[in-house]
Amino acid sequence: GADMNEELYSTLKSKFGFNQFRHRQKQCILSTLMGHDTFVLMPTGAGKSLCYQLPAVILPGVTVVVSPLRSLIEDQKMKMKELGIGCEALTADLTPAAQEEIYSDLTSDTPTIKLLYVTPEKISASGRLGSVFYNLHRRGLLARFVIDEAHCVSQWGHDFRPDYTKLNTLREKYNNPPVPIIALTATATPKIVTDARNNLKMQNSKLFISSFVRDNLKYDLIPKAAKSLVNVVEKMKQLYPGKSGIVYCLSRKECETVQLMLTKAGLSAEVYHAGLNDNIRVAVQRSWLANKFDVICATIAFGMGIDKPDVRFVIHYSLPKSIEGYYQETGRAGRDGMPSYCLMLYSYHDSIRLRRMIEEGNTTSGVRSMHLNNVLQVVAYCENVSVCRRKMLVEHFGEVYDEQSCRNSKTPCDICERQRKNQEAIRLFDVS
Ligand code: ADP
Ligand code: MG
Ligand code: ZN
Repeated sequence: GADMNEELYSTLKSKFGFNQFRHRQKQCILSTLMGHDTFVLMPTGAGKSLCYQLPAVILPGVTVVVSPLRSLIEDQKMKMKELGIGCEALTADLTPAAQEEIYSDLTSDTPTIKLLYVTPEKISASGRLGSVFYNLHRRGLLARFVIDEAHCVSQWGHDFRPDYTKLNTLREKYNNPPVPIIALTATATPKIVTDARNNLKMQNSKLFISSFVRDNLKYDLIPKAAKSLVNVVEKMKQLYPGKSGIVYCLSRKECETVQLMLTKAGLSAEVYHAGLNDNIRVAVQRSWLANKFDVICATIAFGMGIDKPDVRFVIHYSLPKSIEGYYQETGRAGRDGMPSYCLMLYSYHDSIRLRRMIEEGNTTSGVRSMHLNNVLQVVAYCENVSVCRRKMLVEHFGEVYDEQSCRNSKTPCDICERQRKNQEAIRLFDVS
């Protein structure tokens, strides 16, 4: 009713400091508050976290959030603490004493913890945590389960995590009274959505999908040649003075080669990948957030959960592994809504390299053929000369898109830009 609506907006303002809901946030929040299982598919940066953080603040009880990575969890915990929201994380690196402190808060009469972040293996391992959940549930204090990055539960996703499949017991185990589940992801094709809902036993969940169109991103593609990266980065520096961007590379070694190439040309660049030690990684992240250098040379390990609003360009120096991956990686540009550039440096040879890596990988033939098929889709995207790139990207997620909107936008993709120029040339010819 009206009271609920009012309470949503006043909490949004007083606790989170925002005036408006974005995308489908409000609908998702209402659905989960009404007790429905809810499945949320919204692009990166849309604000999925608020869909469970706000209900957690409004309702009594504890909300349990399953999230795949410690870095994501730490990041969220810090934000919640800054907002004065009771939040703790159960991760592998806690001391037994710290863990005990969390358990004793949860089993107290009125837990101060509103949001409890856990990694999936914590949930599936029976034992202490299981009995704490049972205890909360019995007292009506288990408010909600949240499954963040829900595509991790599907084999067809780009980031399958076996521990996620064990979350399939939550629906049945906490069914009397039912504890609502909300699952969220940014990267799921229709096939992955179906698979994830089945695996989580959330077939009856309400599904909310918001548009994948990113109007402020310019998608472009040029052939990869010897000097193209340096030239392109110089052009980006002119377009966006004082700002920085990401160059995605296939391997750690390639990150280093690219960094060398750029610094030799007088540009400032740092590397970032999973092989760096924590101190260096934190230092690079910090100076990256402050625009202290032009380019971060990164493997796809970089980016998940790092929320830099003013990334002005994302360059793919090597081929992404899938269309979803490409959408996700380019999606890190322009989160502040300002025009930003996504450029692919394409070489067919890179696709052969990628396919060789997949063929040599140690996995089942089904998974291998899925990965190979993903690469073929990327190649088709790159070799395409007639279909709008925005259209190809968003239709991959099952959305329908009219390429006229790209053609008429301030940031048309390279294909639409070319078409527009052709049309103008024809008009010019008509007039004369
Ligand atoms: P996602 O998980 O969908 O990638 P996040 O939940 O991390 O996105 O949110 C991305 C950013 O958007 C965060 O900085 C968050 O504070 C901000 N945000 C979320 N909701 C709103 C809103 N309604 N108004 C303004 N900013 C918002
Ligand atoms: Mg998120
Ligand atoms: Zn287009």
